Amino acid sequence: MYAAIEAGGTKFVCAVSDDKFNIQARTHIPTTTPSETLGAVFAFFDQYTIEAMGVGSFGPIDANPASPQYGYITTTPKLAWANYDFLGALKAHYAQVPIAFTTDVNVAAYGEFKKGAGQGKQNVAYYTVGTGIGMGYIHHGQIYMGSQNPEAGHILVRRHEADTFAGACPYHGDCLEGMAAGPAIQQRWGKKGKDIAPNDAAWAIEAYYLAQACMTTTLFLSPDVIIFGGGVSKQSQLFPLIRSQFTKLLADYVSVPAADDYIVPVGLGDDAGITGALLLAAEQL
Ligand code: ADP
Ligand code: ZN
Repeated sequence: MYAAIEAGGTKFVCAVSDDKFNIQARTHIPTTTPSETLGAVFAFFDQYTIEAMGVGSFGPIDANPASPQYGYITTTPKLAWANYDFLGALKAHYAQVPIAFTTDVNVAAYGEFKKGAGQGKQNVAYYTVGTGIGMGYIHHGQIYMGSQNPEAGHILVRRHEADTFAGACPYHGDCLEGMAAGPAIQQRWGKKGKDIAPNDAAWAIEAYYLAQACMTTTLFLSPDVIIFGGGVSKQSQLFPLIRSQFTKLLADYVSVPAADDYIVPVGLGDDAGITGALLLAAEQL
């Protein structure tokens, strides 16, 4: 069987599938301390015969196989996990099992590329807009990495003229994540995104920032499609707003596919990450 771990800062989702990627069992484990959480992870997987494993982890992680800290969670504010050799702990328990290790965003990007809204495309940008904002990029069918993973969730954005919110990123204040992730919406409006009416002006401001992310992504990477996932992206009224603001910002400077086909929601819903991790596991064999 293939094993997948979507390791989030709040919970770990673990799943096993057959070789057709049909999920046979799945469990959710709270993210507490490494020994407690991984103890429960091992207890779950030890019920099955695992051939290969794919892991998408919260981070920041060191994802460069040439680095001495490869497989570590590095500077996370979740202190029990800071500087923790996550991949090493998995390998110690599953010595015979090949393990693919990358970020939580990258596994979701890969799942969407192979089986979701990016199917048939070669260059797929995937943004998750949730507690934070992250971007994963599939470049000619491969997960893109530089010396480390890009962190496009923290690109700088131009402020909306009606927006006085200072920004919520602890590092940069008013970067993209600081202006547009779930906590920024909650702090700016005093309520959670899911409690803001779909026709509220809040969504035009949100869309303005996400449209700028699409603009920058288009100019830097020239993707075939830009996919949005994560909790905030469940607000489907955002999509027409993002597309129209993007079209206005780009001003036909470069040619892109029709906006309805170019800026799209996830195809796999909340299963993008687990699906991508299973696919990466299979590719280890
Ligand atoms: P995480 O990023 O922790 O993996 P989510 O993608 O669900 O999980 O992101 C959580 C954030 O998204 C919270 O700030 C929450 O308020 C916001 N959020 C979750 N669901 C919705 C929704 N349906 N509409 C708007 N915002 C949402
Ligand atoms: Zn930032």
